Amino acid sequence: MSEARQPIMGDPSADGRFGQFGGRFIPETLVPACQELEKAFRSAWADPEFRAELDGLLADYAGRPSPITEAHRLGEELGCRVLIKREDLNHTGSHKINNVLGQALLAKRMGKKRLIAETGAGQHGVASATAAALMGMECIVYMGEVDIKRQELNVFRMNLLGAEVVPALSGSRTLKDAVNEAMRDWVATVEDSYYCLGSAMGPHPYPWMVRTFHEVIGIEAREQCARLLDGGVPDVVTACVGGGSNAIGIFSGFADTEAELVGVEPAGGAAIGRKVPGVVHGSKSYLMQDEVGQVLEAESISAGLDYPGVGPEHAHLADIGRARYEPVTDAEVVDAFQLLARTEGIIPALESAHALAWMSRDRAELAGKAVLLNLSGRGDKDVAQMMDVLGR
Ligand SMILES: *Cc1c(COP(=O)(O)O)cnc(C)c1O
Repeated sequence: MSEARQPIMGDPSADGRFGQFGGRFIPETLVPACQELEKAFRSAWADPEFRAELDGLLADYAGRPSPITEAHRLGEELGCRVLIKREDLNHTGSHKINNVLGQALLAKRMGKKRLIAETGAGQHGVASATAAALMGMECIVYMGEVDIKRQELNVFRMNLLGAEVVPALSGSRTLKDAVNEAMRDWVATVEDSYYCLGSAMGPHPYPWMVRTFHEVIGIEAREQCARLLDGGVPDVVTACVGGGSNAIGIFSGFADTEAELVGVEPAGGAAIGRKVPGVVHGSKSYLMQDEVGQVLEAESISAGLDYPGVGPEHAHLADIGRARYEPVTDAEVVDAFQLLARTEGIIPALESAHALAWMSRDRAELAGKAVLLNLSGRGDKDVAQMMDVLGR
């Protein structure tokens, strides 16, 4: 399919491209695995039985649909109307369960017995361990050694759920390195293992498949907003962007509308902000790299956004001007974290607080508008870290 004929947020081309981004840049040994996965996903997604089983799990296990809360006091403070999509209320505390239930069900359908996952803040690891326990599968989670120290509660949680957490000891010992280790494991064990990737990134079909499993966020939000806005859509839809899965999920519900789409990146991991294309973890996208193409280490207060790249579809949306991406600093995030707690009684995940930090900083531009904020997760996991930061 030519680039010009791709509808915004439609299916990728046959070789997995969104415009010039995406594709499959992987060692020969992984090509058959990705092809097998693509075939299995296409067949599962076209199978009403698979879809019904997944919908049942999302409703009765994960707790969907997640509500939209109108944030009156926060709206008053910011001078705009604020609607919050409550992914923080899902089982395991974030949007990640949507993708994980989809992929674990797919793994089971493919006859795989072992689930491999990578994790940054631990949220995807916890979600994967949860799904593996639910479906009776073995679960191995790769996690950077630095993140293991930052998120020890989530490590213990994964152990409780029966998963084995393996430290990634190379590079910056964070999320990027955990992905490398997980891919290495997958190459060696592809016969009986399934690689459950945690964001809308990696080689084709992952970015597309992960987006598809998160489209439920956008579909629900579109309907809920219509009810709250007299059949209309919000002026702005915003979400934080690490690899980009929660953002792509909510954006997908509004891609065909006039709503402005704003992704928010940590200033220390602003892959799109720098607009340097390159290949990392199997696909072409924007990433943080130096003049000689060496991938730079991302640095952020939240382990979940500590990733130097971004999913390829976001690079494409930025490229064609359908979405824009804003950086926020750690200090702005710390303020936003407290702002939501005090005005609405909701303690957000530090990741989600990025999107709110942008709203708060650029509130002048939002005056009088209706803004939909995707609250990707709850902040319980971050409370101990914030206690240190705030010095209490
Ligand atoms: C993992 C995580 C993110 C970042 O991942 P995306 O793929 O960019 O959505 C954001 N928020 C929360 C709560 C997370 O756990």
